[in-house]
Parts: sequence; structure tokens; C-alpha cells
Amino acid sequence: MTRNLLILGAGTAGTMIANKLRRALPHDDWTITVVDRDDRHLYQPGFLFVPFSDHSPAELVRSRRSVLHEGVDLLLGEVDRVDPDTKSVELQDGRVLTYDYLVIASGTTPRPDQTPGMLGDQWRTSIFDFYTLAGSTALAEALREFDHGRLVVHVTEMPIKCPVAPLEFTFLADSWLRERGLRDRVELVYVTPLSGAFTQPIASARLGAMLEERKILLEADFLVESIDGEGKVLRSYDEREVPFDLLVTVPLNMGADFVARSGLGDELNYVPVDKHTLQSTRYPDIFAVGDASNIPASKAGSVAHFSAEIFTDNFLRLAEGRPMTGSFDGHANCFVESGDGKALLIDFNYDTEPLPGKYPLPLVGPLDLLKETRANHFGKLAFRWVYWNVLLPGRPVPLPAHMSMVGKVLDLGRADEGSTDKEEE
Ligand SMILES: Cc1cc2nc3c(=O)[nH]c(=O)nc-3n(C[C@H](O)[C@H](O)[C@H](O)COP(=O)(O)OP(=O)(O)OC[C@H]3O[C@@H](n4cnc5c(N)ncnc54)[C@H](O)[C@@H]3O)c2cc1C
Repeated sequence: MTRNLLILGAGTAGTMIANKLRRALPHDDWTITVVDRDDRHLYQPGFLFVPFSDHSPAELVRSRRSVLHEGVDLLLGEVDRVDPDTKSVELQDGRVLTYDYLVIASGTTPRPDQTPGMLGDQWRTSIFDFYTLAGSTALAEALREFDHGRLVVHVTEMPIKCPVAPLEFTFLADSWLRERGLRDRVELVYVTPLSGAFTQPIASARLGAMLEERKILLEADFLVESIDGEGKVLRSYDEREVPFDLLVTVPLNMGADFVARSGLGDELNYVPVDKHTLQSTRYPDIFAVGDASNIPASKAGSVAHFSAEIFTDNFLRLAEGRPMTGSFDGHANCFVESGDGKALLIDFNYDTEPLPGKYPLPLVGPLDLLKETRANHFGKLAFRWVYWNVLLPGRPVPLPAHMSMVGKVLDLGRADEGSTDKEEE
């Protein structure tokens, strides 16, 4: 009898999983169906560059059908609800799909509607986001007009996808304003609910020092209560105020509403799963992969990729009635654009915070961890090609899914010898 694998969401994780499993699972025994609301696959890391005009929006969009294996069925429709008891999924147009196994890969979405005042008259006039293509395109226009005042970059609440992206935006804005001779006329402020620039101590110290070097003010521990669009002020629960002329905010990120409607989510609509197998803690035939789950790893494409590798190997064992032996370690790696054509690279997992050193090979790298280099910047730019041509099709990547300590420096005295590539300046 044919078995059905149903995947909700044809974004980064859903597409990679569908393509990898379609190659591995016999066509006579398995159907693979993916549901998404539209046929536009967006390369989200590219949104960061749109306001600075390095990427044209058209380069960031492809048809979902064109990036899915021809043996995968793509259904376009809005998921309304999952019923784990009848093993079925209802779409908003009334269609009902059944499954033997379900993968929830519906990601996380910025929700400006969750902060009072954010979606008021000033939305996309003086308050912008860059976590959507429409937002980053509108922001590009606003930045072209902006030549003096207070530019505030703001994170509403953690977790957010790509937690380094707001810092990258701030560094790029600093560099962009300097190039245009406007930096002296603009006060640049970074507002975060965290107590430092980033979540993990070593990376937070390094990134915090980079804010200071660039004379970017850090407003930490700021939990926004509301935004006064007319008065152009952010207000926190502890009654602090941050005025702005141009606000670039990362709204609260939340999992899909259908997850909540189906009784499958936590308070932010993320699906509770085993952090090593991504299997639902309540239903053994349901998995959540990518940003949709509650695993304590970064919400990032790299995590979607590394965890999809472990998940697909495990799933193939499960399909044959064997135990799942693969264990995801929370591996993430992210390039952090720092402006002036340079970037840092961070590599970490559930147990090990980002450390300095070389990646992926000891001594030779060629990439440096926690250090600003041109090679890292080119790595970030090259990633778009890798995404469309290697990762999404589910082709093998010559990097282990588990994080490696090889090349990492534990002696921080040695690592401090150079945190910027001086020869390259
Ligand atoms: C500005 C920005 C910069 C980033 N930079 C990086 C980076 O440099 N490196 C990195 O690793 N990651 C980066 N990321 C994060 C990365 O893009 C995401 O973590 C990754 O796309 C997550 O994949 P996913 O499959 O879980 O979710 P997505 O790719 O978001 O896919 C979720 C899919 O589910 C669909 N969906 C949701 N609800 C429904 C519904 N009810 N019905 C039908 N379909 C539905 C959506 O349409 C979507 O296609 C960045 C993200 C942003 C926004």
C-alpha cells in the first residue's frame, strides 16, 4: 500500500526535505505532497541587501514548482488546521488531505500586529521592517531620502529568525552612510531586548565592541510596550523612551496560526519536538523541521539544512521500521556582514557557543571565525548560488551536519591577536 508523506510549507526546510526524500524513497511505495500558500519561493537572506541596493528583488524569487523534484506534488492553498487524531489536514478552501507522516515546515513570520502602534499610520512611512520583501523594498526607498536624524534599529522580542540579521543591518547602514558622507549627520541606535549585542557571551562581547568602534549606541534590555508613531517614540515596559526619525524594526516572530488552531503549538505557535530527532513530543507521526519547531537552536537556514540532513536519514530508517539513530546537535553557522565588504562567521551548536578559529579546516580555513574578513563576505554572497543550486535541490554538501571543534580556538588570549583582517584593510 502506498504511504503518504505530507509536508506543510515549501520554504527552505520543506523543499530540502521533499527533494532529498523523493530521491531516496521508492516512488511506488511513497507519495510526497507539499502544501504552500503561493508559488513564490523567496531567498530571505537576500532581503538584508535590498535596502542597500546590492540585490534586486527579482533575483530573490523563484517558482516553488521549479525548485521541487518533479516527483513531488505541490498543492497551493492555505493550511487551516491539522487533526492529529484522524491524521488529516484541512485547507481553507475545504480540501482535506490525509497523511501517514506529517512534517510541519511552516516557518516563522514577523507579526507587526502584535505590538501596539507598530502597524499605525507610520508603518512603511517612518517605521519599516526588512524581514519581508515588501518591507525591505519600501525601506530601500526611504533610505534613499534619509540624510540626517536618528536611525533606530530595533528587535522586538527573541527568538527571531536569523538573530544576527538586525546587527548586520546596523553595520551595513553605518558603512552605507559613511560611503555617502552622511554618517556625521545620523545618530545610529541599536535597541534590543537582550542584555548585550547578542545572545552568547563571546560573540556578544565581540559584536558589542564592533558597535562601540562604529559609535553605534546600544540600548539593551529594552522590552517594547508600544510605539507612538505620531510622536516617533518607542516605549518600554520600564518606561524608557527611544525617539526615532526612521525606525527599522524586527517585529515579534511567531509560528503559523494553524499550529495554534490545531492545538499543536506553544505560546508563540512553535511545535514542541524532541530537539535531537524533531519528532513531536505528543504525536510520533508528526515532525517539525526548520523555524516551525521549538528547538533551542537559532532559527536559520543553516539550522534547517543541518537538521534536515539528520531528519531525512532518520526518516528513511523509520520508513523501514528501524529505530531513528541520528541525533541533531543544534548546529548553526551564520555569516555576519559587518560593512565595508567584510563579514564574520560564527559556528556553534546547543552546547558550544561561537568560538574564534578557522573554518572548516584547521590552520588553512579558508574562513575565519569571529573575525571580519573579505573571504567571509564573499562566502555570504556565494551562499545565494549554493542555496538555489545545492541546498534546495538536496544535493550533498561536503560539510558535516554536526558541529566540529576542529579549527576552533579555546584559548581566547590567542584568538584576540587579531579580530579584523588588518592586511586586507
Ligand atoms: C532578513 C533575513 C535574513 C536571513 N539571513 C539568513 C542567513 O544569512 N543565514 C541563514 O542561515 N538564515 C537566514 N535567514 C533565515 C532563513 O531564511 C530561515 O531560517 C529559513 O528560511 C527557515 O526555513 P523554513 O523552511 O523553516 O521556513 P520558510 O523558508 O520561511 O518557509 C515556511 C513556508 O511555510 C509556508 N506557510 C506558512 N504558513 C502556511 C499556511 N498556513 N498555509 C500554507 N503555507 C504556509 C510559507 O508560505 C513558507 O513558504 C534570514 C531570514 C531573514 C528574514
